[in-house]
Amino acid sequence: MEYKTIDDLGDLKGKVVMLRADLNVPMDENFNVTNTARIDRTVPTIKELMSKGAKVVVTSHLGRPEGKGDMANSLSHITKDLQKALGKPVVFVDDCIGPHVSEAIKNMKQDEVLLLENLRFYKEEKKGDENFAKELVAPVDVYVSDAFSTAHRDHASMVAAVKMRPSAMGRLMEEEVNALSKGLNDPKRPLIAIVGGSKVSTKLDLLNNLVKKVDKLVISGGMAHTFMKAKGIDTVNEANSLVQMDMLDTAKEIMKTAEANKCEIVLPLDVVVSKEFKPNAEHKTVDLEHIPAEGWSLLDVGEKTIAAINAKLDECKTLVWNGPLGVFEMKPFDNATNKVAEHAAELTQAGKLMSVAGGGDTVSALANAGVEKKFSYISTAGGAFLEWMEGKELPGVVVLKK
Ligand code: AMP
Repeated sequence: MEYKTIDDLGDLKGKVVMLRADLNVPMDENFNVTNTARIDRTVPTIKELMSKGAKVVVTSHLGRPEGKGDMANSLSHITKDLQKALGKPVVFVDDCIGPHVSEAIKNMKQDEVLLLENLRFYKEEKKGDENFAKELVAPVDVYVSDAFSTAHRDHASMVAAVKMRPSAMGRLMEEEVNALSKGLNDPKRPLIAIVGGSKVSTKLDLLNNLVKKVDKLVISGGMAHTFMKAKGIDTVNEANSLVQMDMLDTAKEIMKTAEANKCEIVLPLDVVVSKEFKPNAEHKTVDLEHIPAEGWSLLDVGEKTIAAINAKLDECKTLVWNGPLGVFEMKPFDNATNKVAEHAAELTQAGKLMSVAGGGDTVSALANAGVEKKFSYISTAGGAFLEWMEGKELPGVVVLKK
């Protein structure tokens, strides 16, 4: 691997290791953690470091604190969940730098883990401040970065601190980077991408990168409407769809680049139109030439499109997916997302397809389809996953190159 991993750290016996994790978990109004996925996924790295004899000090950010003393975003709230997931005592320290931390490390018992207070209680963290990083690593010997979901940010704990100690990526970041590299950097071909979601304007960089890299690009969801209009499908209009009239030339440019790069673009062949934007609203599936001019909205793609996308998946060896095919939050407009997700999951389970998906809503859309355990890899990183799909280098990953 071109990146430093825990295997490259040598003997850790007796060493104090700082682990930059992503414990940014959702909580209810009583500060109970509502989804422990990020805690659970950090546990293997902590356990491995402990089994190698290291003393582990865990750091993370949580939420968007307004500064020090913002107790709603205190990592103290997750101490008991981390302790439960780890099966070891977790001692919370009410700061992430300074004398309280050094003292706690001095008093640490072999079988204990320290959890430090929210890194973002210091504005220097987001600024990538070198002095803050220096203070952070001062009491530790080794630094392990496992917060892939923050790797698109050059924050102090993601970049500066990594450079100041012998460092490596944790097992979670290693898993993410490996899976994503197989998806886009070194894929088995043919390679297909599915991009959905609401607007073209938010995914321009992503589309421009993908048309140069993938063999087939499925464009669906609201963003497909602009492409359909740009192709001269005049039944798609501002009254019935999310078409972005100011993006028509951009869509044409993207299609031109695709053609030049021999990337086949797959657009909807039929659509599900609905009278209202609400669950179980009156709806019907129509071919493109029969889309009603107004009074109906395009909320999903129809069965012909689903069959066409699934047939394209059959021809491919690798899939990268971001964005739902329709308004998946409302039944039955989750139909296309579900059916294509199920087909991709079947192909994956049969060993015919390597499937990678990620980015915000995509994770919930695929969970809604019940396939989250049947894809090769679903990344929980939102922004970092998108930036990787855009072809950008992630500073928090680059800094870990050998
Ligand atoms: P994004 O954050 O850009 O990936 O967009 C995700 C959102 O796109 C979801 O909330 C979907 O409901 C929405 N979406 C997908 N297809 C459509 C559509 N045909 N019309 C309106 N919204 C859509």
